[in-house]
Amino acid sequence: WDRTQTAMATEIDRVLNGKRYAPAAKRERYDTLIVGAGFAGAVLAERLANDSGQRVLVVDRRPHIGGNAYDEHDAAGVLIHRYGPHIFHTNSADVFDYLSRFTAWRPYEHRVLASVDDKLVPMPINRTTLNDLYGLSLKDDAEAAAFLASRAESVEDIRTSEDVVVAAVGRDLYETFFRGYTRKQWGLDPSELDRAVTARVPTRTSTDDRYFTDTFQAMPANGYTRMFEAMLDHPGITLDLGVEYRDVIDRIDVDHIVFTGPIDEYFDFRFGKLPYRSLQFRHETHDVAQFQPVAVVNYPDEAVPQTRITEYKHLTGQLHAKTSISYEFPSAEGDPYYPIPRPENQALFKRYEALADAEEGVTFVGRLATYRYYNMDQVVGQALATYRRMVAKSAVLETP
Ligand code: FAD
Ligand code: UDP
Repeated sequence: WDRTQTAMATEIDRVLNGKRYAPAAKRERYDTLIVGAGFAGAVLAERLANDSGQRVLVVDRRPHIGGNAYDEHDAAGVLIHRYGPHIFHTNSADVFDYLSRFTAWRPYEHRVLASVDDKLVPMPINRTTLNDLYGLSLKDDAEAAAFLASRAESVEDIRTSEDVVVAAVGRDLYETFFRGYTRKQWGLDPSELDRAVTARVPTRTSTDDRYFTDTFQAMPANGYTRMFEAMLDHPGITLDLGVEYRDVIDRIDVDHIVFTGPIDEYFDFRFGKLPYRSLQFRHETHDVAQFQPVAVVNYPDEAVPQTRITEYKHLTGQLHAKTSISYEFPSAEGDPYYPIPRPENQALFKRYEALADAEEGVTFVGRLATYRYYNMDQVVGQALATYRRMVAKSAVLETP
């Protein structure tokens, strides 16, 4: 078969039998095709190859592995996260132990400051935030709790991202820290978003200024990309990067597909587009050793275009004479990053989910395919659980 004959045969077969044909001798054979080399795809590839002995093909339309957690050295040699800051934290020993097979860790507790009226104050709101912002001297948890209680509004039915904050801290703090930031981040007022969104950020009466309180908080010692390389380094795993999965399925034979891209795209937007929020990043390198006092400074003022600035050396511990930072500008257009949690989007997702459930031979997993505002550890947990289900199902099928 030369190229012309192959093209002709494929074309004839497209017309006669659909598109899953290519001359038998030319087709590569895999047990599973995995679409997406982010956390969801990498965990499933590793498990299927390493634990089940499968031959797996992993494809990604991007030219690299790691999905949104991808990190790289920029032109100055500073390790940055191309798609914005990724801080690993989890309460799951299972997830932490699993990832620890592929990386050592650098202990790191995340701290964030918010820029308000030319002051930098701790975010999440804690006792220090209240004292700095209002010139108070609240001495202990009880005094801070009493202060917040005197400001909080009673909300009968806490449904939205506005409700959850005003019920905890009152309108003034809500407007200072949450309203503008959220309107920028999501292009929606907090009153139009599920309460789960702003409920991710707690309020504290202590002076604990850590962003997370999870049991395990650490960064992969040599970065995320190295960790993904270790996960995917297996003779049973073949990588094909910079390709659309639709351009690959014509030339392979597979029993099963794991899809980790946007679910609406898989179904050709049959019910319309499922909204995902995007971001534009502006990466800069500065000729100073340190740009800001912590890894992330948030800008809740709606008049300031960026939501936050990240300085990576705080996260990675890298020593370098220069420093690299990223500005984040939220946008409607661009790569899909965030599912947008609100009731109408969930209803549309459910319609796609029903199609997914009925789709033979395809498993949907990950933040985009299951339309869930998941952190990395939750995606790893979901992928491990999905693998266990796949194994259980195949054991049932193999039972005579
Ligand atoms: P992704 O990483 O999006 O991977 C999906 C992959 O599929 C992509 O690489 C995509 O190119 C590929 N793909 C899609 N469609 C196709 C197709 N048709 N053909 C081929 N390839 C395709 N989580 C935390 O725990 N801590 C944090 O600090 C944190 N910070 C974040 C900051 C930002 C700015 C963002 C956007 C997310 C953050 N997250 C964080 C969440 C984290 O990025 C996700 O939970 C995780 O990366 C999701 O992994 P995934 O495999 O589901 O999806
Ligand atoms: N948020 C806010 N002000 C802040 C930090 C967070 O209003 O200073 C809101 C905003 O809506 C954001 C949500 O809380 O999207 C969740 O914050 P988180 O830091 O968890 O967001 P992520 O890291 O996923 O972007």
